[in-house]
Amino acid sequence: MFKVPLADLKEKIIQSGKLSPRELDSKIKEKVNELSGLVSEEGAAHIIANELGIELPSTASSAKLKVKEIYSGMKSVSVIGKILQKYEPRTFMKGDSVGKVCSLLLGDETGTIRVVFWNEQVDLIQSAQPDDVLRVTDSYVRENNGVREIHLGMRGSVDLNPEGESVAVVRRVSKAYERKKIEELKETGDTAEIVGTIVQVFDPRFFYTCPQCNKRVTESMGTFTCGEHGAVNAALSYVLNAVLDDGTGMIRGVFWKNQTNHLLRKEEIEVAVYKEELPLFEDVKTELLGEQFKLQGRVHRNEMFDRLEFNVQIVEKATPQEELARLE
Ligand SMILES: [Zn+2]
Repeated sequence: MFKVPLADLKEKIIQSGKLSPRELDSKIKEKVNELSGLVSEEGAAHIIANELGIELPSTASSAKLKVKEIYSGMKSVSVIGKILQKYEPRTFMKGDSVGKVCSLLLGDETGTIRVVFWNEQVDLIQSAQPDDVLRVTDSYVRENNGVREIHLGMRGSVDLNPEGESVAVVRRVSKAYERKKIEELKETGDTAEIVGTIVQVFDPRFFYTCPQCNKRVTESMGTFTCGEHGAVNAALSYVLNAVLDDGTGMIRGVFWKNQTNHLLRKEEIEVAVYKEELPLFEDVKTELLGEQFKLQGRVHRNEMFDRLEFNVQIVEKATPQEELARLE
């Protein structure tokens, strides 16, 4: 049996809608008593899920998993993520031979996890770089000092930048995104999670970028030129500003393309319409006003206007239940 943390087990059971959190807690206590304390709360949760016919993650999951769904002890795990960081390979002596180990940090929209490569496996990721997409197949998961690690083992394999696969948003779960009040945001570089209500929305600004280096390109007579890459097929990009208020203060949130798409719940093709028909955006503004969002990002001082801004990285709709639970 692999270890699914109790909190995750409970979440899965509650998600099924068959039990409320309160009912589940009392059922778990009941079960532990019933079995004279011979099962842990985790064990009891497993039994309850079973009785209710709720499917929990299984050990052999050939299906592609999200990082959040990966637990220590799992086998045959496949996952796709973006490489956030690649650590220097290290060599070590093992008896008379020299061993090699290298690890990297992989992330998707649900979290991050370390992937470890041993000996000749290290060569598989020799050319890998941050921002590359990596698919890991048929690997296993173990815990090292309380942290999950993916190992390839004998059967595992990896594909670097597999065709047709992309990872748009990475959720970096770290202390860096500590919940803060807007009045606490002071320094450039401060990272935080804030929850606020949108009180003002500005028109999006559109521009074009080089598909190779993402830098802005200049336009002249319908052709786009990148300072580095010459004439390119430019990609449309945009940025949107909105002011958030959490009762302690206000800050201007800067939403780049991906974040704007999440904020508006629209695809690029839908947002692009406003480039030609800006008056249509008025309705979007009206809809956004008064909406509550949970944002993770980084504080930045805009020197030109001498004001603090919040460069948004992750956009989520705030859930009143979660906020209430936090207050309790
Ligand atoms: Zn370029």
